[in-house]
Amino acid sequence: MFSYHVAVTELPDDLALPRALTTREGPRNLPALRRGVELRDVWFRYDERQPWVLKGVDLFIPFGRSLALVGLNGAGKSTLIKLLCRFYDPVRGSVHWDGTDLRDVPPPELRARMAVLFQDFMSYDLTARENIGVGALELLGDDEIRRAAGLAGAHELVTALPRGYDTLLSRIFFADGEGGEDDPAAGTTLSGGQWQRLALARALLRQSRDLLVLDEPSAGLDAQAEYEVHARLRAHRAGRMSLLVSHRLSAVREADVIVLLDGGRITEQGTHDELMAAGGAYERLFTVQARGYLPQPAAAES
Ligand code: ADP
Ligand code: MG
Repeated sequence: MFSYHVAVTELPDDLALPRALTTREGPRNLPALRRGVELRDVWFRYDERQPWVLKGVDLFIPFGRSLALVGLNGAGKSTLIKLLCRFYDPVRGSVHWDGTDLRDVPPPELRARMAVLFQDFMSYDLTARENIGVGALELLGDDEIRRAAGLAGAHELVTALPRGYDTLLSRIFFADGEGGEDDPAAGTTLSGGQWQRLALARALLRQSRDLLVLDEPSAGLDAQAEYEVHARLRAHRAGRMSLLVSHRLSAVREADVIVLLDGGRITEQGTHDELMAAGGAYERLFTVQARGYLPQPAAAES
């Protein structure tokens, strides 16, 4: 599921404007994270006429550890991430960066400390290089861009473009000749999976940030590409503080803590082995998926 044209959430960090958020006590510096990020009894709904999306979520994300968030569609995973990035404030409860309530932190200050791939990421009518580097212009050095692209599985697809990293990309597909390949101003269009890889590279470029958040980084990729991306991400996440959302449970099993969100509440939490032994919803979901992946001649693709 992609929404290329909807400029809802992902803006270059320094441009991102919160919607109707007030920061108490004026701007203050946010110290580097040391202990962790914590949600305390967080309740959230998008509108008073709409149902609660999060219903009293308590969650601690310890510094330096990897956390995975899983749950069915609509469980509230992406919403939780938007609260972590302060696109919204909780209706009740609070989110804390170490001891600091996010309501006291100007959003640009917070987002400068995070690297985030949103599920409804943005794509830009810019070159491939700029699509990866946007919002982190100080990192536009070639080596950094290529490293991030390699990690995201985007390097090969970019080098295959007519002008490599300098190819102008376009979100708009021109039919029949109008702005075709002969027209350098028209830009090259990418597939959904290719945009996904560029957006992932954009997040991975910010490797020095305190917290890496990836919401469905392999959405839109085929099974083989998904496997490869997750294998590289696993190595990249080792020793880094990260929050990964994925519907692909085999990709989250190495996380230090796996959290299951169900109906706006955290219903299970633990390591993969603990959750499997508990025999709850996670175990059932994992078993169903694993069965789908057993090598069966007629059903290799899930
Ligand atoms: P998940 O990421 O787990 O699939 P989401 O956080 O995207 O779940 O969505 C949780 C619920 O919030 C869903 O019912 C969804 O329809 C609703 N929702 C998500 N975004 C918005 C929005 N911008 N406005 C209103 N409702 C929303
Ligand atoms: Mg989501």
